[in-house]
Amino acid sequence: MTADITASGLQEAGAVLAAESVRFASFGWMRGTSGNLSVVLSRDPLRLAVTASGHDKGELTAADVVLVDGQGTAVNGGRPSAEAELHARVAALTGAGAVVHVHTVASVAMGHRQPGGIVFKDLEMLKGVGQPAHDVEVTLPVIGNSQDMKVLGDRLEAARDPRMPAVVVAGHGLYAWGADPRQARHHTEVVEWLLELELTRR
Ligand SMILES: [Zn+2]
Repeated sequence: MTADITASGLQEAGAVLAAESVRFASFGWMRGTSGNLSVVLSRDPLRLAVTASGHDKGELTAADVVLVDGQGTAVNGGRPSAEAELHARVAALTGAGAVVHVHTVASVAMGHRQPGGIVFKDLEMLKGVGQPAHDVEVTLPVIGNSQDMKVLGDRLEAARDPRMPAVVVAGHGLYAWGADPRQARHHTEVVEWLLELELTRR
């Protein structure tokens, strides 16, 4: 194992990510084998535990996790999610300790409807992403999709609003992040709630 990350440390992270995955899958946000989760295990050098590619997210186990470096490349074998590189980029860029990526209907629908970004204001729920409930406009950026994680990362970096711990990828889904898996989950739930609300407005 690299740095100070032991096999049992990686397994522990895997157990946390598996529990989070089962929860998100139960919401219908990780249909099929879509979506992926990560948690930062070391900052310098950057190392993340990322969910393995191709698994049913409702059936994930502690072993279905891969250790990756700052480029999203597997450090000790295994096949990480194809989007591991973007998880690493988000962690490096934002200082987040955990990243959530889900394919939700509301994120795709709202990204299609408002490709320039989705503006929220005067909603109590904005407190859930650390913003005032009143008088402040907060924009959730929407970026174009790409199969090239470098391109996607560049778009995310350019569009990111530091006040909003999430980005919508058009025609694809939602990325959200937080200090740890629990906060990343809360941010995901809050942003998804905001998107579902906007979806009901005509
Ligand atoms: Zn995806």
